[in-house]
Amino acid sequence: MSLKKIGVVGAGTMGNGITQAFAVAGFDVVMNDMADAAVQRGLATLSGSLDRLIKKEKMTAAQKTEVLGRISTSTDLSALADCDLVIEAATENLPVKLKLFGQIDSTVKPDAIIASNTSSISITKLAASTGRGDRVIGMHFFNPVPMMALVEVIRGLQTSDETYAAVEAVAKAVGKAPVQIRNSPGFVVNRMLCPMINEAIFALGEGLATAAEIDEAMKLGCNHPVGPLALCDMIGLDVELAVMQVLFQGFNDPKYRPAPLLVEMVEAGYLGRKAGKGFFDYQ
Ligand code: NAD
Repeated sequence: MSLKKIGVVGAGTMGNGITQAFAVAGFDVVMNDMADAAVQRGLATLSGSLDRLIKKEKMTAAQKTEVLGRISTSTDLSALADCDLVIEAATENLPVKLKLFGQIDSTVKPDAIIASNTSSISITKLAASTGRGDRVIGMHFFNPVPMMALVEVIRGLQTSDETYAAVEAVAKAVGKAPVQIRNSPGFVVNRMLCPMINEAIFALGEGLATAAEIDEAMKLGCNHPVGPLALCDMIGLDVELAVMQVLFQGFNDPKYRPAPLLVEMVEAGYLGRKAGKGFFDYQ
């Protein structure tokens, strides 16, 4: 099964990065979001990212024009009807994704594959909400998508071998390194990464050190290229909280309880870089 035309639902942090990765690799992509403002924001971010590649002499202006020419945008899911693969990268919220999966399932052609970029939600549950469970899979990209090599390819209980093989091949075609993972809360990377970030937030909330000191300690002590709190700002505090809630509920284990400071910062709207403020200031 060869996947040629790609649909991306959600033009936020991940959606525009996924669109960029596929369009740069030569695929035609339809990028969808609910409102035109969100689509335009996604497109502007993507265009800025291509400009940085031009500045670093990794792309020419003519190539940028070609890449943008392969991207069409839409606020209506019907524009995705003839896509071979639709990657859902909408807000990390189960009711939102269940509703979207139902809509995508009834819109796209019967043999299309529907993938979710969810950080933590059960692929088996999403697959069960469609009439094509064997053609539903997790394609978990990492942020920033154009730079990060890994794609966790998550098999729900219903995912067929054929679907897995097609998605593994398309991940390689965009220059990514796919790793096959069985469905489980948080999959592999976030099962370890998000509790580490959550623990850094506990440390901050308990006043052990400042945000800058905690990040400095982890960079120098563990050789991490970026500290856990700056990384959380990049991921989005709402996304970190959503993942911790899925781990907490999925394993029914108090070791995954979200840090109270994380909950409060999300309530305040301090969501990290995308909000201009998180553990650090981006104004
Ligand atoms: P985001 O908040 O930046 O973007 C989400 C986008 O989805 C928004 O533009 C929103 O308008 C759109 N959306 C919501 N409902 C929609 C609908 N019904 N139809 C179309 N668009 C809709 O979020 P994000 O960080 O890009 O996360 C998207 C997904 O990727 C989540 O499932 C998240 O868990 C996952 N993810 C995030 C990261 C990260 O570092 N941020 C990394 C890996 C995976």
